[in-house]
Amino acid sequence: MDASALEAFASQLRGTVVLPQDTNYDDTRKVYNAMIDKHPGMIVNCVDVADVIYSVNFGRDNGLLVAVRGGGHNGGGLGICDDGLVIDLSGLKFVQVDVAEKTVRVGGGNVWGEVDHATHPFGLAVPAGIISSTGVGGLTLGGGVGHLSRKYGLTIDNLLEADMVLADGSFVTVSASQNTDLFWAIRGGGGNFGIVTSFKFQAHDVKTVFGGPTLWPIEQTEEVMEWYHEFIHNAPDELNGFIATMIIPGAPFPEHLHNKQFCGIIWCYVGDLDKAEEVFKPILAREPLFEHVGPMPYPSVQSMFDGLLTPGLQWYWRADFFNELGPEVRAQHLKFGSQIPTPLSQMHMYPISGAASRVGKDETPWAYRDAKYAGVIVGVDPDPANADKITKWCKDYWNGLHPHASGGAYSNFMMDEGQERVKASYKHNYERLTKIKSKYDPDNLFRVNQNIVPG
Ligand SMILES: Cc1cc2nc3c(=O)[nH]c(=O)nc-3n(C[C@H](O)[C@H](O)[C@H](O)COP(=O)(O)OP(=O)(O)OC[C@H]3O[C@@H](n4cnc5c(N)ncnc54)[C@H](O)[C@@H]3O)c2cc1C
Repeated sequence: MDASALEAFASQLRGTVVLPQDTNYDDTRKVYNAMIDKHPGMIVNCVDVADVIYSVNFGRDNGLLVAVRGGGHNGGGLGICDDGLVIDLSGLKFVQVDVAEKTVRVGGGNVWGEVDHATHPFGLAVPAGIISSTGVGGLTLGGGVGHLSRKYGLTIDNLLEADMVLADGSFVTVSASQNTDLFWAIRGGGGNFGIVTSFKFQAHDVKTVFGGPTLWPIEQTEEVMEWYHEFIHNAPDELNGFIATMIIPGAPFPEHLHNKQFCGIIWCYVGDLDKAEEVFKPILAREPLFEHVGPMPYPSVQSMFDGLLTPGLQWYWRADFFNELGPEVRAQHLKFGSQIPTPLSQMHMYPISGAASRVGKDETPWAYRDAKYAGVIVGVDPDPANADKITKWCKDYWNGLHPHASGGAYSNFMMDEGQERVKASYKHNYERLTKIKSKYDPDNLFRVNQNIVPG
């Protein structure tokens, strides 16, 4: 790269450019998953929309590979790349709550904990995931499955508007009435269509919820899952609960549970608190070995696992959608749940029902509205020496379940797994996505993602 071109570019910015020779380079190139070790040619820390526009133009005009980093949480490390230009959005943060309208405007580089912090005093929340350090950008553009999905839908079902910088450097606003093709595409199609610099969401009246974990010994996995499948899809929308196989690694849980495998369900009820005990009666009647359900502020349920899943761990991900939890599937969960190799490794299945399932299969690119679960298996450990062990367990578990899966996977739960998996995950919506991609990014500038190839 010509030094004078780089200098001219840097002088346009209010943010900074970090190069391999800089002392902060190694810290700046880190992402949440420490298994990802990429060495970009430069990282631009953008602080405003103009910085994003200059960076897109510079990357495109110089033929650079361009990656875009929001919260940096992506399992496959799709917020960073080798050699090319990383457009980092972590300096693009703001949260503006409109209390009267019950809407929230959020910067392209915010993380969900910042949104929860700003909305909670007003008794409002936007449906997101289950960890507060996840980026708003990546989670939203891929779909957004979490504690509020059964009552208020996926995060994309609550997206009202977005501001975007496109591959040609132009700036557009997309909504149900402006640039409607792009508005459709970004509600699940990932970062393929441009860089979102701000999101506007519908917020909901959520302040104190009733939730927490219930745990059963791993040996009871099959019967708990059989009951759960019937129960959760017939429960009121106000009740969400995702099911997991997991290990209790230590405090704050009681000592007799430490380092044992469990089949657990993590609940979040957003209905009338006076009715919560009644709603939880059939759950507690299953006599969990441990339960810690009760009223808590919504941000507490959102950040319940933050302390365990800190940045810098090794992660290996595998995912699929499922329509059923039949006897053969349950047997696989018992088998691999009993073999969890490290304390933080786990499997989650998020129910796709209630409001999330009432959106049409082609209303957004998120094609699996009729699946019953978005499943994900994660091998996790702090020690790089265990990378092979967690990867093998994760792949074996996935291989055991995959013959019973319904096709693709939720794109935000996938690693970098190739075109066929991307196509399977968007299913009947893939072709429409490729047409919109051809219109707005014909040269595939934005390709460090679950890539939709221009048609
Ligand atoms: C611990 C953990 C818990 C999670 N829990 C959930 C959960 O409960 N529910 C759920 O749905 N998902 C969950 N996820 C998955 C998460 O949604 C994805 O990892 C997502 O990609 C993270 O977004 P990010 O902005 O942090 O990631 P990044 O790595 O920064 O980006 C991921 C992708 O999004 C693109 N991108 C990010 N921001 C923008 C933007 N503003 N404009 C354009 N493109 C952008 C990037 O280019 C990249 O392709 C979890 C992930 C982790 C690690």
